[in-house]
Amino acid sequence: MNKIDIYDTTLRDGSQREGVSLSVADKLKIVGKLDEFGISCIEGGWPGSNPKDIEFFRRASKVKLKNARLCAFSSTRRPGIAVTEDKNIRALVEAGTKTVTLFGKSWDFHVHDALETTLAENLAMIKESIEYLKALGHEVFFDAEHYFDGYKANPDYALATIEAAAAGGADLIVLCDTNGGLMPWELIAILAVVKDRIKIPLGIHAHDDSGMATANSLLAVREGITQVQGTINGYGERCGNANLCTIIPNLQLKMGFPVVTPEQLRGLTKLSRFIAEQANIAPADHQPYVGFYSFAHKGGIHVDAVSKKPATYEHAEPEQIGNQRRILVSELAGRSNIILKTNHNNFKLDKGRTETAAVLQRIKELEHYGYQFEGAEGSFELLVLKMMKVLPASL
Ligand SMILES: [Zn+2]
Repeated sequence: MNKIDIYDTTLRDGSQREGVSLSVADKLKIVGKLDEFGISCIEGGWPGSNPKDIEFFRRASKVKLKNARLCAFSSTRRPGIAVTEDKNIRALVEAGTKTVTLFGKSWDFHVHDALETTLAENLAMIKESIEYLKALGHEVFFDAEHYFDGYKANPDYALATIEAAAAGGADLIVLCDTNGGLMPWELIAILAVVKDRIKIPLGIHAHDDSGMATANSLLAVREGITQVQGTINGYGERCGNANLCTIIPNLQLKMGFPVVTPEQLRGLTKLSRFIAEQANIAPADHQPYVGFYSFAHKGGIHVDAVSKKPATYEHAEPEQIGNQRRILVSELAGRSNIILKTNHNNFKLDKGRTETAAVLQRIKELEHYGYQFEGAEGSFELLVLKMMKVLPASL
């Protein structure tokens, strides 16, 4: 099984999500947590685009990482100038990371209308920029921006851009679905052609505008790519990037790729919530694997089955990703909800005891009057203590 590199771009692409602004100190803390978790490559930012990222790389160079390598991001040189004259590339080199990621255009539409240069000049920009960085001893990843849209519009030119990157000496070519509109079957067809032509390792960078970023990333791995790019919690511009909190457990638990150690995987839920806190975003409670509700059981029939065999209503064990099973109490509950919810109290409630049915009956009556116990664990506890006569009913 090929080794899959996880490339995290939370600090660059992720911070392009509306409302997110990370300070240098936030970014450094996040680097520490991503490294501890076992991410193999952390994209720290784009030093050519703002002074904050320049300062970040200056301070990050002093941080010792255990698992990850830090990586700086930039564009290929601008049209019509020598690589040595390009300010972005100079800032990229000054960032001082051994690994650099360079993005360039693969879609002829962007070359004409965004870069406003010729197709031939864009190929030269890609090849010369990579050659320059390789000569300085860098490991160079080439992000082929809009690769799939570019391929659909002009396959020969899209292929020529990544051939230029390979000729320049790129260590890895990352195929980007920058607008996030790619369908999985299109990915398979395009990847088959690319694999035929390009013999260096490939990566995938998917956005989630059509809800396919996870599917496309996993399929790309099945098709042989070796690097998956994404962000923690799927943060990113518009609908977000490929969500590493979904992709990593799927790769490891469903597809058998040893991405991180089992112990590191148990840190995923904590990592997800830490990043949400740093980004000042309320955690997405319904998020697969790491959400607060991911393993919450409410219906009486479900809870009864889960209490016997958790796999009846769970696709994975919550402990594997450091999450927790939660049993909710409401009017939809059955006796199993009450038993599981009170077992820490030594009441030894079981299905045969009249108190179990009485507590359940009381919950249903109160919910009918408008009370809600699902988010009120303390009130539930008091109700049980009163019905078990540990507390006076008048309290
Ligand atoms: Zn992106």
